[in-house]
Amino acid sequence: MLGYDKILRYVLYAVCLGVIALILSPGSAVWRKDEVVKVPAAATQPIKSETKPEPVIAANPPEPKIAPAPEPAIPANPPVTVPKLIVPVSGIGPQQLHDNYSDARSEGRVHNAIDIMAAQGTPVLAATDGVIRRIFYSERGGNTLYQLNSYGNMVFYYAHLDRYADGIVEGKAVKQGEVIGYVGDTGNAGAGNYHLHFAIWTVSDPKKFYNGDHINPYPLLR
Ligand SMILES: [Zn+2]
Repeated sequence: MLGYDKILRYVLYAVCLGVIALILSPGSAVWRKDEVVKVPAAATQPIKSETKPEPVIAANPPEPKIAPAPEPAIPANPPVTVPKLIVPVSGIGPQQLHDNYSDARSEGRVHNAIDIMAAQGTPVLAATDGVIRRIFYSERGGNTLYQLNSYGNMVFYYAHLDRYADGIVEGKAVKQGEVIGYVGDTGNAGAGNYHLHFAIWTVSDPKKFYNGDHINPYPLLR
């Protein structure tokens, strides 16, 4: 005879087995959860792959770079200040200078420079620090020398040189007071009219260093 106890026990076993079978069945919630998780995971991947092409829109970063660009252009203003100069002829003091900056020249030209009188062969000195930009012979200037300042926006021009100092070549850096040449009368200075023709001008493009807005050197050498 089966007692109620045994019947209840079998019923409980049956219920437990049923529950276990339900849990382990492929369609149970246990497996569905995994599948449900897998599906969204797989679903997000294509979304990611869709977003990958978007980085091309990362062309945004360059825009902020364009914005700060104007700033470097601003520093061009302060350096235009003329540095402290020395009289570029050895042994000549500021009191010996004459302001002939505005003198008329042939063909309606204006002098735009000062002539510093000195004996032939007197050392010509760099008026300031800079770089020898160009040395060449011209009909008017004779042996000429163009010195560019370190900012590349100001030129110091020396003309009628008898000759250049040893070692003076284009591209050479020179210090203020360094001998760059010697006083002469080459070009249209006039035979025996030994002097240094000295001019200063500002340039907007270092490549076009040969002309610009002239500055009177006279007050700057006093
Ligand atoms: Zn002159």
